[in-house]
Amino acid sequence: MVLRALELRHFRNLGIQELHFPPEGVAVVGDNAQGKTNLLEAIYYLESFRSFRGAADAELTAFNQDVFHLRGEVGGGSVTTVAAGYDRRRKSKKVTVDGNDSLKLAAALGSLGAVVFSPADVQLVNGGPGARRRFLDIVLSINLPGYVAALQDYRRWLAQRNSALRARAGGAGSAQSVRAWEGGLVETGATVTCMRASWVSAWSETYSEYHEAVSDGDSATLVYRPNLVGAAADEARSDAGSRPDPHDEEGVREHFRRRLDAARENDFRKGVTSVGPHRDELLLTVATRGRSLPLRTFGSGGQRRTAALALRLTEAATIRRQRGTDPVLLVDDAFAELDRGRSERVMALLESDLSGQVIVTAPKESDVKFTGRTLERWRLHGGVIEA
Ligand code: ATP
Ligand code: MG
Repeated sequence: MVLRALELRHFRNLGIQELHFPPEGVAVVGDNAQGKTNLLEAIYYLESFRSFRGAADAELTAFNQDVFHLRGEVGGGSVTTVAAGYDRRRKSKKVTVDGNDSLKLAAALGSLGAVVFSPADVQLVNGGPGARRRFLDIVLSINLPGYVAALQDYRRWLAQRNSALRARAGGAGSAQSVRAWEGGLVETGATVTCMRASWVSAWSETYSEYHEAVSDGDSATLVYRPNLVGAAADEARSDAGSRPDPHDEEGVREHFRRRLDAARENDFRKGVTSVGPHRDELLLTVATRGRSLPLRTFGSGGQRRTAALALRLTEAATIRRQRGTDPVLLVDDAFAELDRGRSERVMALLESDLSGQVIVTAPKESDVKFTGRTLERWRLHGGVIEA
């Protein structure tokens, strides 16, 4: 994919501008706090319709404005126009693809085919399981048809069951009112689990290869630990042999039902649903002196950054397979903290594996490490691009 043009109106500090991007990409150079990350955030907004930094839409609107608009032209031969707008007074978001505004958000996701590499990605490794579930959810929402719908349905059933549990804990609801939500919970939760499992099993080897290539030899693994299938603290050990294969959706459903039965009394006491994919873990390990250890607790800073990078590279490879074209790489000064060897190997990988458009930011000209190709330089000052 190629981002050809971007129109900005009152997104963060970027004002009103129209930018035309070279097909091979561009390096945006500017001091701190000038708007470099804001620009990448704007571009990725047209991919996911949310901030990759986790900011609320209202925060993305320029301080002195109520509405922001973004419009991107995407593609090589035939051009797709993706537009998004947000009005903070009405709290309303509008998305159109080629002028079509009747689309569900889910159908418009991923129109650009982009991946962000950011120093904050290390939180994927350092953070709790929720950070890694969010990563999975975004990658799958954009690349796996049907995933968003299944996830949203699951969340609705979960919220209903949780509120019935709270009502019961407060003396208002019955056990029956809790069980009423379990059919839907099991159905949708098993679908989410199986979709996550199939992505991880398709891509874990690629992840290990990227990790090994960047670190020059560390062997690392990406393992899906579905809560439904793994051992829960209160689950009898003897149950281990009967754990179903996450590729067998009916088996997973059956297992989920049994886990819910076993957990119900406890859920009544706690007032919250304790089993299901909202408790999944995506485990990252690295082998050090022959021992496989969780990166989150035992990895060095550089190893964690490498693992985060390998996750992003795997995301990029997923997009490429899914679309049949290279993703747009949005690189936010992300390789600054890697040692020289690692950063050179990442660059080499990007050049050999992903030869699409690259939009890279850096505070200094000399920090732009894409050596294999000459990218045009743009300066960014006070939110204004000088091409
Ligand atoms: P660094 O090199 O430090 O990462 P950066 O160039 O990436 O800097 P950004 O994060 O893109 O900087 O931009 C930060 C600037 O954007 C801040 O000065 C902030 O005040 C401004 N800003 C953030 N949100 C808004 C908004 N809604 N309206 C106007 N300005 C905003
Ligand atoms: Mg920044």
